[in-house]
Amino acid sequence: MSSTHPISIVGGGLAGLALGAALARAGVAVTLCEAGRLPRPRVCGEFISGLKPATLARLGLAPHLRGAAMNRSTGWHAGGRLRWAAELPEAAPGLSRMTLEARLLEDFVVAGGELRLNFRAPDSGDVPGQVWAAGRRADASSPWLGLKIHCRNLALDHDLELHLGRGGYVGAARIEDGRVNICGLFRVRPELRGPREELLPAYIAACGLDKFAARIAQGDPDPASAAAVSGLDFTRTGFNDDRVSLGDHLAATPPYTGHGMALALEHAAAALSPLVAYASGGKNWPETTREIRAAVATQSGTRLRWARTLHPWLLHPVKQSLLLALADTRLLPFKFLYQATHGESVAA
Ligand SMILES: Cc1cc2nc3c(=O)[nH]c(=O)nc-3n(C[C@H](O)[C@H](O)[C@H](O)COP(=O)(O)OP(=O)(O)OC[C@H]3O[C@@H](n4cnc5c(N)ncnc54)[C@H](O)[C@@H]3O)c2cc1C
Repeated sequence: MSSTHPISIVGGGLAGLALGAALARAGVAVTLCEAGRLPRPRVCGEFISGLKPATLARLGLAPHLRGAAMNRSTGWHAGGRLRWAAELPEAAPGLSRMTLEARLLEDFVVAGGELRLNFRAPDSGDVPGQVWAAGRRADASSPWLGLKIHCRNLALDHDLELHLGRGGYVGAARIEDGRVNICGLFRVRPELRGPREELLPAYIAACGLDKFAARIAQGDPDPASAAAVSGLDFTRTGFNDDRVSLGDHLAATPPYTGHGMALALEHAAAALSPLVAYASGGKNWPETTREIRAAVATQSGTRLRWARTLHPWLLHPVKQSLLLALADTRLLPFKFLYQATHGESVAA
């Protein structure tokens, strides 16, 4: 394809890299700028649930998921015991962000994409050809902190173990090479300080999950994989922006869903054809932005609303007790809630 209008992508996370690689493969002149280095450890459960086969196909992503652990069984723990166990309607690939982003990056560069690392793009409003995949909108006053680390030798009772504690929750899921990723969301405790690799077990223990913290300590945690992020906010959106925003930059879904990556990839897939048409001169920029914004809003709106409504039930003490009472009495509508937060079922 002869590309008359170049595309520039702001942000080298999943949405930006997947879109950039697919555009470059389609012959579009595409530049991607990333504020940091790539790839790097990121705070993420690395559990890709609700990923649609159509998204994989559209972005040509299947080869990039090779070696992923296929996670299906989930166990929900609280108060020191298993409260709920359920099979997911479809397997969720478990793959470290380092691995996935290294593969996407290589794909992007080999296909001819131009990369600019350690460059933070200024916010200049809606610029023709520019796509914002710049991740979640941080809130410096947010009390929420995300922490993660890989364990090289940790046995799990289920493919995904989720542990609810006081002021936080943490997930442990299988990823490639027999590793387990531990990732949690916690209310900030200023009294807890120290290197990243020590913070996660400290926060887990402070939530009352001492036994789980001890398992991590014995599970050969890998300090090089540790990451931390603060300022987490799950209320902001970019639905009213005048520019094209994708992935978390449009709206971040709460982490318990394990669905943020699938949403980011769905957005990239939805933006691909309109951007290819724009790049070849077949569409002007206002038409292109309208089409992409309508597609991503329709795709994400209902799922996000459900995910955000349910999130406090995992964190607020009273709501958490009610949730656990529903689980104990087998009245928790797990399948319905999964469907509501993940969209249509995609049985493999
Ligand atoms: C604690 C926690 C656990 C999670 N667990 C899961 C999980 O298990 N499964 C799941 O699917 N999702 C999970 N998520 C969500 C998932 O990580 C995100 O949904 C996903 O990373 C979104 O991808 P993205 O490309 O939109 O943004 P990101 O991956 O955040 O990438 C955005 C990129 O843009 C760059 N950037 C920002 N501003 C600029 C700028 N001005 N110029 C240049 N570059 C810029 C950033 O440096 C970053 O690299 C979790 C999130 C958290 C916080």
